[in-house]
Amino acid sequence: MHEMALRGDILQLVENDARSRNFKQVDKVELIVGDLSNAMPDALEMAFDVFRARGLGMLSEGAQLVIHKEAARSKCVICGHEYTPDRRLSICPECALPSGRLIAGETFKVQSYEGS
Ligand SMILES: [Zn+2]
Repeated sequence: MHEMALRGDILQLVENDARSRNFKQVDKVELIVGDLSNAMPDALEMAFDVFRARGLGMLSEGAQLVIHKEAARSKCVICGHEYTPDRRLSICPECALPSGRLIAGETFKVQSYEGS
Protein backbone atom coordinates (compact mmCIF):
# COMPACT_ATOMS: atom_id res chain seq x y z
CA MET A 1 0.00 0.00 0.00
CA HIS A 2 1.64 3.18 -1.24
CA GLU A 3 0.38 5.47 1.50
CA MET A 4 1.47 3.03 4.16
CA ALA A 5 5.03 3.27 2.87
CA LEU A 6 4.88 7.07 2.74
CA ARG A 7 3.46 7.11 6.21
CA GLY A 8 6.19 4.82 7.41
CA ASP A 9 8.88 7.00 5.88
CA ILE A 10 7.46 10.22 7.22
CA LEU A 11 6.94 8.76 10.68
CA GLN A 12 10.51 7.47 10.56
CA LEU A 13 11.72 11.03 9.93
CA VAL A 14 9.72 12.28 12.90
CA GLU A 15 10.98 9.47 15.12
CA ASN A 16 14.61 9.95 14.18
CA ASP A 17 14.32 13.63 15.06
CA ALA A 18 12.36 12.91 18.24
CA ARG A 19 15.02 10.43 19.37
CA SER A 20 17.80 12.92 18.75
CA ARG A 21 15.97 15.28 21.13
CA ASN A 22 15.54 12.49 23.72
CA PHE A 23 11.77 12.39 23.38
CA LYS A 24 10.15 9.20 24.61
CA GLN A 25 6.94 9.52 22.70
CA VAL A 26 5.25 11.49 19.96
CA ASP A 27 1.82 12.94 20.73
CA LYS A 28 0.97 14.91 17.64
CA VAL A 29 2.16 15.05 14.04
CA GLU A 30 1.18 17.82 11.65
CA LEU A 31 1.59 17.25 7.94
CA ILE A 32 1.21 19.44 4.90
CA VAL A 33 -0.34 17.50 2.05
CA GLY A 34 -0.72 19.09 -1.35
CA ASP A 35 -3.76 18.36 -3.49
CA LEU A 36 -1.46 16.99 -6.22
CA SER A 37 1.06 15.26 -3.96
CA ASN A 38 -0.33 11.74 -4.59
CA ALA A 39 -0.78 11.28 -0.85
CA MET A 40 -4.40 10.62 0.05
CA PRO A 41 -5.38 12.15 3.40
CA ASP A 42 -7.95 9.45 4.19
CA ALA A 43 -5.43 6.71 3.57
CA LEU A 44 -2.80 8.57 5.60
CA GLU A 45 -5.14 8.84 8.55
CA MET A 46 -6.01 5.18 8.37
CA ALA A 47 -2.36 4.18 8.21
CA PHE A 48 -1.57 6.44 11.16
CA ASP A 49 -4.35 4.77 13.17
CA VAL A 50 -2.98 1.35 12.29
CA PHE A 51 0.51 2.35 13.43
CA ARG A 52 -0.82 3.75 16.67
CA ALA A 53 -3.13 0.82 17.39
CA ARG A 54 -0.30 -1.67 16.86
CA GLY A 55 1.94 0.28 19.18
CA LEU A 56 4.58 0.63 16.47
CA GLY A 57 7.16 3.31 16.80
CA MET A 58 6.90 6.16 19.27
CA LEU A 59 3.29 7.21 18.81
CA SER A 60 1.54 7.58 22.16
CA GLU A 61 -1.88 6.06 22.74
CA GLY A 62 -3.67 9.36 22.13
CA ALA A 63 -1.40 10.51 19.33
CA GLN A 64 -3.08 12.84 16.87
CA LEU A 65 -2.53 13.36 13.18
CA VAL A 66 -3.35 16.78 11.77
CA ILE A 67 -3.34 17.22 8.02
CA HIS A 68 -3.11 20.67 6.51
CA LYS A 69 -4.10 20.65 2.88
CA GLU A 70 -2.24 22.73 0.35
CA ALA A 71 -4.25 23.84 -2.67
CA ALA A 72 -2.76 23.29 -6.11
CA ARG A 73 -1.60 26.42 -7.93
CA SER A 74 0.02 26.90 -11.30
CA LYS A 75 1.69 29.85 -12.98
CA CYS A 76 2.09 30.27 -16.72
CA VAL A 77 5.71 30.86 -17.74
CA ILE A 78 4.61 32.72 -20.87
CA CYS A 79 1.98 35.21 -19.64
CA GLY A 80 2.37 34.95 -15.87
CA HIS A 81 -1.26 34.04 -15.28
CA GLU A 82 -1.92 32.11 -12.06
CA TYR A 83 -4.68 29.56 -11.81
CA THR A 84 -5.84 26.36 -10.11
CA PRO A 85 -4.79 23.34 -12.17
CA ASP A 86 -6.35 19.90 -11.95
CA ARG A 87 -3.09 18.11 -12.69
CA ARG A 88 0.65 18.71 -12.65
CA LEU A 89 0.96 19.58 -16.32
CA SER A 90 -1.81 21.86 -17.47
CA ILE A 91 -2.80 24.27 -20.19
CA CYS A 92 -2.82 27.95 -19.32
CA PRO A 93 -6.43 29.19 -19.50
CA GLU A 94 -5.22 32.62 -20.67
CA CYS A 95 -2.93 31.81 -23.58
CA ALA A 96 -3.92 28.16 -24.18
CA LEU A 97 -0.33 26.95 -24.20
CA PRO A 98 0.91 23.97 -22.17
CA SER A 99 3.10 26.39 -20.21
CA GLY A 100 1.66 26.09 -16.73
CA ARG A 101 4.18 25.25 -14.02
CA LEU A 102 3.04 23.95 -10.66
CA ILE A 103 4.02 26.41 -7.89
CA ALA A 104 2.04 24.83 -5.04
CA GLY A 105 0.20 21.62 -4.32
CA GLU A 106 2.98 18.99 -4.52
CA THR A 107 4.09 19.35 -0.93
CA PHE A 108 4.15 16.32 1.31
CA LYS A 109 6.06 17.04 4.49
CA VAL A 110 6.06 17.22 8.24
CA GLN A 111 5.17 20.71 9.37
CA SER A 112 5.74 20.02 13.06
CA TYR A 113 5.31 17.45 15.76
CA GLU A 114 4.93 17.40 19.51
CA GLY A 115 6.41 14.92 21.90
CA SER A 116 7.85 14.50 25.35
ZN1 LIG B 1 -0.43 31.84 -20.20
